[in-house]
Amino acid sequence: MAAKFGRCMMLCCSRKLSQKEDMATSDSYEEAIAGLSKLLSEKADLGSVAAAKIKQITAELEAAGSNEFNPDARIKSGFIHFKNEKYQKDPALYGALAKGQSPKFLVFACSDSRVCPSHILNFQPGEAFVVRNIANMVPQFDLTKYSGVGAAIEYAVVHLKVENIVVIGHSCCGGIKGLMSIPDDGTTASDFIEDWVKIGSSAKARVKTECNSLSFEEQCHNCEKEAVNVSLANLLTYPYVKEGVMKKSVALKGAHYDFVKGAFELWDLDFKVTPTVAL
Ligand SMILES: [Zn+2]
Repeated sequence: MAAKFGRCMMLCCSRKLSQKEDMATSDSYEEAIAGLSKLLSEKADLGSVAAAKIKQITAELEAAGSNEFNPDARIKSGFIHFKNEKYQKDPALYGALAKGQSPKFLVFACSDSRVCPSHILNFQPGEAFVVRNIANMVPQFDLTKYSGVGAAIEYAVVHLKVENIVVIGHSCCGGIKGLMSIPDDGTTASDFIEDWVKIGSSAKARVKTECNSLSFEEQCHNCEKEAVNVSLANLLTYPYVKEGVMKKSVALKGAHYDFVKGAFELWDLDFKVTPTVAL
């Protein structure tokens, strides 16, 4: 009997507790809404700010409310966050950007989701014109191939007149690992990937020759930096880049971001560029 009574008490207690929790949640929600209504009735000019915040909270709750990932809700909540926290807080910047852009940097970075240059270098909108591709490669000037990269370089250098071109490699780069893994006979198994990363073949050859005593991982790490140097040299095959470097209106910089160590390395290459002499 005592045991039965005890169980009953426990059940009652737990039911009571959950009612109390519900009431507490309900109370605080109602209190919050009442507080907001009171504030807005006193300060009507806060209405648009409140509406934006409520939209943000609604989108965040939508994104968090389901166990399944909801891409639309994630995109929506991301944009609302950006608009409330950045866009609307800096009208001077976004007003100026509405009229045009004048970035100081053209940046090449890998498509890898961990190495976004705006994130790791805190570039603000308007600061960097960015090209991202597998293994942050710059191919040689070629009018029949790679027009996407060529158009970006031409636009950034000729029209935007960027003053710095930075190629950023990174740790654990899958593209570089792919390049280093291509068999010696050159056979490939992918539609595009290996053909693309072969742009860095001379970097691979150099690493294989000079670092053959190192482990495969260490060779890949070296190749991540060597491939940046190959891309810097390839940039000089674009006539407008070469001209800019000779006139010192454009500087070329190599970089490597190591997200394992949280380190960033930046270097200049001393190109001995000589003018082409017409014979
Ligand atoms: Zn990569």
